Amino acid sequence: MQTSVHGIHHVTAIAGDPRENLDFYVGVLGMRLVKKSVNQDAPDTYHLFYADGAGTPGSDLTFFPWPDMGPGRLGIGLTVEVPFAVPPGSLEYWKKRFANQGVKCDEIEIRFGETTLPFRDPHGLQLALVETADPRQFTPWEKSPVPQEHQLRGMHAVRLWERHLAPTATLLTERMGFTLIGTENGWNRYGADGGGSGNIVEVKELPGEQRGRWGTGCVHHVAWRVKDSEEEMALRGVIERAGLQPTPQIDRFWFKSVYFKEPGGVLFELATDGPGFDRDEDMEHLGERLILPPWLEPHRKEIEAALPRLEMPRGSE
Ligand code: ZN
Repeated sequence: MQTSVHGIHHVTAIAGDPRENLDFYVGVLGMRLVKKSVNQDAPDTYHLFYADGAGTPGSDLTFFPWPDMGPGRLGIGLTVEVPFAVPPGSLEYWKKRFANQGVKCDEIEIRFGETTLPFRDPHGLQLALVETADPRQFTPWEKSPVPQEHQLRGMHAVRLWERHLAPTATLLTERMGFTLIGTENGWNRYGADGGGSGNIVEVKELPGEQRGRWGTGCVHHVAWRVKDSEEEMALRGVIERAGLQPTPQIDRFWFKSVYFKEPGGVLFELATDGPGFDRDEDMEHLGERLILPPWLEPHRKEIEAALPRLEMPRGSE
């Protein structure tokens, strides 16, 4: 059976102060906080999920705020940038908004024919906005400080640095269903499900570059969409037979996950499209209260007491 992922499911990164993180992603980028939870392996740390109005798979950037960790180091074996899709013509709006909000951005560049505005979040995470007319599954968020026509449509791509291209390219094309779309300025663009916004990974080979190190401002892992548990387990088998070491399937409550390191060291995850973020909260009230997985619920009082208080940015509550 031919296995394939269906684009980006979510990206998880490491942030500094959770309040600064919330202010930026909700207050400046206008994303919706769709889930406020804790790191299931370290419940004294938040796990914050930002997405479109409905938490559509592929729109969700999540953070572990670990202010004490110190900044990470960009390098090989890491996801080095997360570009988001915006509608054609939106970058004028975003350039003005960033100038008003004091967000530093780079010059607009053209990548694979797409107009792109690179910038960083307050903790150094490399992001970009890419104008694209590709169709996206998208639900606007009516309480966003950003008008609907300019809201982020979800992740457009992810960019990886690798010491060697070939082993990663082989995994992507022969096991995960990607095809090579093109090469430009050392970047190799691959697309799953025919490519298109949200289905793209770009890999650059940098043999002389030092290894990256996790820290604030770094991507922790990239999760790839699989339809359901059955498809996930089939792909898990393919990954294992390729000589990699996937974890057992882990129930993340809102989706089911399998983790593995691709040959260059970037942490990948497979994540099922369902059940979804409205499994434990109704769509109207996503992200408003601290959500704990059932096995942590008995410790809610201690967990809440150990977490810093978060206030929604003005105009978005
Ligand atoms: Zn994940």
